[in-house]
Amino acid sequence: MAAKKKEYPEVTPYMYIHITALSRRWRALTFDMISKRLDSCRKALMNASGYMWDNSHFVFTDSASKAIFQFGISGDELHLWTADGLHSIGDIREEDYPGRADLVKTLEEWAQFVSDGKLRCSECKKWFPKDAIISFGFTGVVCHTCHNPRIHTDPDLRGD
Ligand SMILES: [Zn+2]
Repeated sequence: MAAKKKEYPEVTPYMYIHITALSRRWRALTFDMISKRLDSCRKALMNASGYMWDNSHFVFTDSASKAIFQFGISGDELHLWTADGLHSIGDIREEDYPGRADLVKTLEEWAQFVSDGKLRCSECKKWFPKDAIISFGFTGVVCHTCHNPRIHTDPDLRGD
């Protein structure tokens, strides 16, 4: 008897988090508590949808429920991308934000920059309008000053 073939899910589950959750709930939580709560939500969504990969798909929305950026969590780091997934915004490590309020404040500031159409240079960490940045790799972003054509190259699509 042939084993039942595992079917691919028809949907990819995304969890939308309203930005006000930051000030209302997250301000009182440690990084670890936030990470564990989100991970349990991720697993519940995986089970409910039949989604089989471990990627987390979290999206922050603004006060009008418009997607601002998406993020994933691995260990003690948040990884942030634009809502369309095309540009990396940067990583927030727990050790850089020992105070919970600082983490929340940083996320709120970054959300405002992204809502204003700005992207963050991965080298100098400054924010620039989208038309003043250069994309590299799959989601990399650098400003013109930091751009090094030998390092910041097109994505490697050759495969292994
Ligand atoms: Zn730069």
